[in-house]
Amino acid sequence: MRFPVIILLLLPVLGCGSGKTPAKPITMKEDQSHLPMPADDAGWKQRLTEEEYRVLRLKGTERPFTSEFEQFWDSGTYVCKGCGSELFSSETKFDAGCGWPSFYQAMDKSKVKEITDNSHNMIRTEVVCAKCGGHLGHVFNDGYGQPTGLRYCINGVSLGFKKKQ
Ligand SMILES: [Zn+2]
Repeated sequence: MRFPVIILLLLPVLGCGSGKTPAKPITMKEDQSHLPMPADDAGWKQRLTEEEYRVLRLKGTERPFTSEFEQFWDSGTYVCKGCGSELFSSETKFDAGCGWPSFYQAMDKSKVKEITDNSHNMIRTEVVCAKCGGHLGHVFNDGYGQPTGLRYCINGVSLGFKKKQ
């Protein structure tokens, strides 16, 4: 009769392992919006990680499907990783399936600047942070993001996230 006793003792242990661990909340490492804007490249390099610097300051693109925000649906505000400016609301985020966090509109038209981008033999509209000039991504008028028809395809590495309190 020893066997059933052992099983019973093990049950609580096995039960613990089967539960999903709660998702780690994602927040900005540090809100730097209160700090003065870096005056030069050296200052930006100090503030940003290598990848953040490559995307935000050198207009790079992160590899698709690598952002922690690509499939992230918490309620809150997405801010510029460079300067902390509030850029997008989680309410306008949608799954475009393109591999980058996508929004159908900016929080406020004045928060982002749209610039015609002719690089890579394409005519695209680049989206930059209006406050610090950091490269965020591109906006496409391809009907995916409803109700506006716009798809702000944004590098997750350019963003921080402030959870709704
Ligand atoms: Zn910024």
